[in-house]
Amino acid sequence: MSLVSLEKVFAYLAEHEERHIAQLCDWLRIPSISSESEHKSDVIAAARFIADELDGLGLQVEVIDTSGHPLVYAEGAQQPGRRTLLFYGHYDVQPVDPLELWISPPFEPAIRDAKIFARGACDDKGQLYCHVKALEAYVRQGIELPVNVKFIIEGEEESGGRAVYDYTERHTDRLACDAVVISDTALYNEQVPGICYSLRGLAYMEIRVFGPAMDLHSGGYGGVVQNPANALAAIIAKLKDADGRCLVPGFYDDVLELDAAERAAFASLNYTEEVLRKETGAPAGFGEKGYTILERMWARPTCDVNGIVSGYGGEGAKTIIPAQAVAKVSMRLVPNQDPDKIAAAFIRYVESICPPGVRCEAVNLHNAEPVLVPRHSPLLQAGLRALEQGFGAQPVFIREGGSIPIVGTFQDCLKAPVLLLGYGLPTDNAHSPNETFHLRNFRGGMRTSAILLREAAG
Ligand SMILES: [Zn+2]
Repeated sequence: MSLVSLEKVFAYLAEHEERHIAQLCDWLRIPSISSESEHKSDVIAAARFIADELDGLGLQVEVIDTSGHPLVYAEGAQQPGRRTLLFYGHYDVQPVDPLELWISPPFEPAIRDAKIFARGACDDKGQLYCHVKALEAYVRQGIELPVNVKFIIEGEEESGGRAVYDYTERHTDRLACDAVVISDTALYNEQVPGICYSLRGLAYMEIRVFGPAMDLHSGGYGGVVQNPANALAAIIAKLKDADGRCLVPGFYDDVLELDAAERAAFASLNYTEEVLRKETGAPAGFGEKGYTILERMWARPTCDVNGIVSGYGGEGAKTIIPAQAVAKVSMRLVPNQDPDKIAAAFIRYVESICPPGVRCEAVNLHNAEPVLVPRHSPLLQAGLRALEQGFGAQPVFIREGGSIPIVGTFQDCLKAPVLLLGYGLPTDNAHSPNETFHLRNFRGGMRTSAILLREAAG
């Protein structure tokens, strides 16, 4: 494709920007909160909105009923010999409470300081819409698409639904592609775009400690039976050493170490302890010796207690020995750790350190695979070129400490690499009051998506 047509695409995007913003705001007005059943009809309306839009661009669209919220599948004409991109996104949003902290109502989009304020503006309606509008520019300008496109858009991302996982596992032919593109992450910062090439995985555990058959009088039986809360504390104290290294045997066996180029690249991003303190409000940083903050955040595994429940927590005193104690524990994992193997090692370890006088068990609640996409792959290089031209700034490679479980499912089922092309910002308040999407990033995202359609053609 010639450069001339890309200019026509950019001209279209510039000329129709006001309308594109207004249409995005129409979508944002639909309160598609997937976890709240009172919004079920809104969730369906949000699915319909994006389905109609893709239909209007000449794609074959299907709104698929599931046991949860509907999936939207769409595909353009599939021409043999062209590469195929599958775009994934979600039309559902997080709940909005605490409502009183919103400066303007979450479902009445408002533009202030060159940002759209609304729930879902960034996560994920605004980011997904960049791909749709890039596609629109090609279609309306009569420019042949350089690649085949497919979309799979779900409505349960924020509520942990399984529909898209089941569908992907059962419809690998329909979703077959050369690459999956996901825009549901962030640029590195306001000046620097980034491509995320690695995500941490997860093994989520629950430790349960059982003691007496019922809560006991701590005067009557204190000192003669083991206390499950004390026993749980003893177990937790043995999960990590004083430097934050996890003590589960074999935990680090399969960890892929960072290479020298990655360490240098992370160091050049200059993330300091001061920034960490400002972002978190923690009095000081903490973590494994021998690694910088970004290395620990993005490329080292961890083990953290997420919650502890036992005994009495109400007002004043209640003198008991609790019958049970429970802790939730998340282990963030990195390439090439296997969540199942780590979960099994954790269970064996907890059983082995169970104090006498109580019964202990650990169970694996859910897992996510860690992800690593080779930085030198043609797809990531195409993404890099698209970002550089789309945002007019040199992008960097970044990792993310969190997990996006669907990425592992796409990789396993479709055998295709995943490009994480984030257009949001870490400061966009996703999941918090006053969520934003910068108009500059909407513009940059649409341009990047348009360039990607060309660059990914190879
Ligand atoms: Zn999201």
